[in-house]
Amino acid sequence: MGNASYTIQRNGETIAAGYAVKATCEEPGCTADIDRGLAYLCGQTPGGDENGCGGYYCGSHLYMSLQEGVGDLCGRCIATLVRKTTT
Ligand SMILES: [Zn+2]
Ligand SMILES: [Zn+2]
Repeated sequence: MGNASYTIQRNGETIAAGYAVKATCEEPGCTADIDRGLAYLCGQTPGGDENGCGGYYCGSHLYMSLQEGVGDLCGRCIATLVRKTTT
């Protein structure tokens, strides 16, 4: 697997990502130790995609969308998705 660590573009910034990259949950006030692997990613594409912001969150701050092609999302993105799909 070649994705232990790589760099991505996010909000115009180059950041290191991949499961070998140690990080802290990006939820304000949360200090959970995570890594920047896909398991902690909001959305399905590093750097962000249509539904996910590309942030990295711990298991307490990532929610299953239960929708195909969406992946797990942070609180803000899941709220946006719910708004989009219920109206
Ligand atoms: Zn998000
Ligand atoms: Zn967290």
